[in-house]
Amino acid sequence: AKFIVGLTGGIGSGKTTVANLFAELGITLVDADIVAREVVAKGSEGLTRIIEHFGADVCQIDGSLNRIALREIIFNQPHQRDWLNNLLHPMIRNTMLKQVQQADSAYVIMVVPLLFENGLDKLVNTTLVVDVDPKLQISRTSERDKVASTQVEQIILSQMPRDQRLSKADDIIDNQGQLNALRSKVASLHHKYLELAKTPN
Ligand code: ATP
Repeated sequence: AKFIVGLTGGIGSGKTTVANLFAELGITLVDADIVAREVVAKGSEGLTRIIEHFGADVCQIDGSLNRIALREIIFNQPHQRDWLNNLLHPMIRNTMLKQVQQADSAYVIMVVPLLFENGLDKLVNTTLVVDVDPKLQISRTSERDKVASTQVEQIILSQMPRDQRLSKADDIIDNQGQLNALRSKVASLHHKYLELAKTPN
């Protein structure tokens, strides 16, 4: 079985940035956000099931998912949200594991924003948390997305508290500094993971 590193961190902490540095070292990435879109892509089994359940209103003219309509339906209906999660979570999980097995790098980085919240840490061999303080999460995210800082604050509050996330981490990568500092931290973790991937688990 492939050695899997679960990469997580709060909004705007730098997960994508860190993941791309591992990719530069030749490591395959499996990204939960990308897989979550794949399982409801046009013509997918996931989208077919969603349309059967919620009706054609959640489908756009071009056959793709109407995310806004779906979000409105589940917003005030917890049982519908649960139905959707029960459909999609196993599909996302299985698709990610399939991508892991197809990877040909020495180990795989699984990028999962809600790794601990959704219990996906059970799928991985070791966890890596990207950490910055909330002030930096807010400034970097609002700059990147051109959104108000209050909106980022809301999302931070909906995620696992920083200290709790850090206490669950096998490794922590501090991303308060410059990109160059990050690059050398990634390089040393890469060597650690190459060694761990060699030992049978
Ligand atoms: P999300 O949770 O929203 O998916 P993320 O954790 O993937 O975010 P990134 O998109 O990698 O975070 O980083 C957030 C923003 O901060 C980006 O615009 C990125 O370019 C910038 N950034 C990341 N690391 C640094 C750094 N060390 N120095 C300066 N800017 C950085």
